[in-house]
Amino acid sequence: MSTPYPLEPRSAAAAQVRATLQDREARLRAEVEATRARGEGDPTRVAREATDRGEDAESQVELGLNDAEVARDVAELREIGEALARLDAGRYGLCKDCDEPIDERRLAAEPFAIRCTACQGRFELARSRRA
Ligand SMILES: [Zn+2]
Repeated sequence: MSTPYPLEPRSAAAAQVRATLQDREARLRAEVEATRARGEGDPTRVAREATDRGEDAESQVELGLNDAEVARDVAELREIGEALARLDAGRYGLCKDCDEPIDERRLAAEPFAIRCTACQGRFELARSRRA
């Protein structure tokens, strides 16, 4: 039987996704810490604290980060935070942009995915044009 999306926030499936996301979140944070410890100074402090507060601190992240590895991890941490918020709101599994269900195989591979494949492609294209 396939998993019905969006997930009901109190369901066992949601609890499993939540655990997976929180585990990944903890590992990414440790990675960011380790990368930061290797570099000089503390360029990710602002971003980390903002992430801890669950805020979207895109501008602060971009100001403070030049390490591509950390930037990627922080971006994923932000997606995980958003996926967790959507999970609690009963919106997990629906595309943030078009509201259509996200492909199950995509969610299985990337449980933090908050957009369907088509919208993610558009989003990344727009982002690369801004950069
Ligand atoms: Zn979409």
